[in-house]
Amino acid sequence: MEITMMNKSTNHQMDEAIKLILQYNNIFIASHINPDGDNIGSMLAISLALRKINKNVSVLKSDVLPEDFMFLPGSHDIQEYKEELGPIDIFIVVDCSDEDRLGNNKALLSNAKKVINIDHHISNTMFGDLNIVDPKSAATGELIYKLIKKMGISLDIDIGSNLYTAISTDTGKFSYESVTSRTHRIIAELIDIGVDFNTINLNLYENMSIEKTKLFIQSLSTLKFYEGNSIVTLKITKEMLKHAGAKMEDAEGIISFIRKIESVEVACVLKEIEMNNIKISLRSKRDVDVALIAQSFDGGGHIRAAGCSINSNIEEAEKEIVGKIREVVR
Ligand code: 5GP
Ligand code: MN
Repeated sequence: MEITMMNKSTNHQMDEAIKLILQYNNIFIASHINPDGDNIGSMLAISLALRKINKNVSVLKSDVLPEDFMFLPGSHDIQEYKEELGPIDIFIVVDCSDEDRLGNNKALLSNAKKVINIDHHISNTMFGDLNIVDPKSAATGELIYKLIKKMGISLDIDIGSNLYTAISTDTGKFSYESVTSRTHRIIAELIDIGVDFNTINLNLYENMSIEKTKLFIQSLSTLKFYEGNSIVTLKITKEMLKHAGAKMEDAEGIISFIRKIESVEVACVLKEIEMNNIKISLRSKRDVDVALIAQSFDGGGHIRAAGCSINSNIEEAEKEIVGKIREVVR
């Protein structure tokens, strides 16, 4: 069975990565900032797999971890970097399109003997010594699955639960156009080994807190439509968070809700991280490449899901991003 369509050079990079992993012992794996399900699931799956072959694995966070993922096997071993963890032989970075997305852990790249960059973003900057980058993979979790299989490490329920989470969350529950029959074959295998997908789905998708619900309701009052309702924006301010008793991570998922609107091609959520630091999420439905829009503001991502930051107040940021989206939607 063909597992992925990875091209020859990506396959070669994976073979080289396996050689390195077998050669060294102290392996560090880091999340990126604003970690999502694919990032955390991929990181935990590879860490659990490498522990099975007795590697000394440290799993590092580059940012606060959303509570929603703390049910995942291995999640409680994720820690901040400290020198006592020892020398970094190999630094594995997953689902991370560029070095800046490592936050403070970016500095560790130069401490590591070798950096292995495993990702599926089309905008990846190839910052590793080895780069296993395949934009055709629907999730980084698919690449991690392939790596684990190639290493001959047997899947188990803990590894499988993390892979399931990585792939499910990055594919809109196996619905985006990035999904292939291979995605489903991987998931089928995970179900065959006994991964409890029902419990995982309840944890991931049927677990909305009251605070998040309140934030959701408030933020909907900021909906704005442009260009014949084909563009929609929504804003989340610090004030709203305070009012709802919510955290910014609770804004996760709102964007996929507003993209559902019939006329919408591009959905945009603006999050006020600080007064002049606005995090922007973009989603498109059929035609628009939002990665290109995000890249014009030094961000990145995928064709249908991308993000960037704008350093101005939220109203200004909205004008700027809408101006750019308008150029492509028109
Ligand atoms: P989200 O909107 O969920 O934060 O991100 C959607 C996608 O865009 C993810 O694949 C994420 O990695 C990417 N992304 C979001 N923000 C940024 C950014 O500031 N820079 C880059 N390079 N990618 C981003
Ligand atoms: Mn991903």
